[in-house]
Amino acid sequence: MDCIFCKIIAGEIPSPHIFEDEACIAIRDINPQAKVHCLVMPKKHIANLTEASADPELLGKLMAACAKVAAQEGIAESGYRVATNCGENACQSVPHLHFHVLGGEKMGERMS
Ligand code: 5GP
Ligand code: ZN
Repeated sequence: MDCIFCKIIAGEIPSPHIFEDEACIAIRDINPQAKVHCLVMPKKHIANLTEASADPELLGKLMAACAKVAAQEGIAESGYRVATNCGENACQSVPHLHFHVLGGEKMGERMS
């Protein structure tokens, strides 16, 4: 499958895995939109949140991983935002589920 995140997970495209557990990895976003901008993604290919809703156990693991990544990045106390884009109107550009973990600075109040 021609999926850039699957290739990063497999190590075929170099991108340091800043966090890893049995279910997921985290990397730094190549085009950061905040001082801290990481991406948490499942190791298995799932297109987006709609598809992942069939596996709530995995979603729980991904959410826990987001919090662990935030702690590791030193932004748990100051605050952070977790977001996922799902589908066309949300401008999802990589069709492999991922959660953005953003922080390290004050962010805007608007979510859109
Ligand atoms: P989306 O728009 O799908 O919610 O987010 C995709 C994110 O993946 C974007 O923030 C983009 O900068 C990031 N991204 C795309 N390609 C790569 C890559 O090859 N390496 C890394 N580290 N991030 C990427
Ligand atoms: Zn994939």
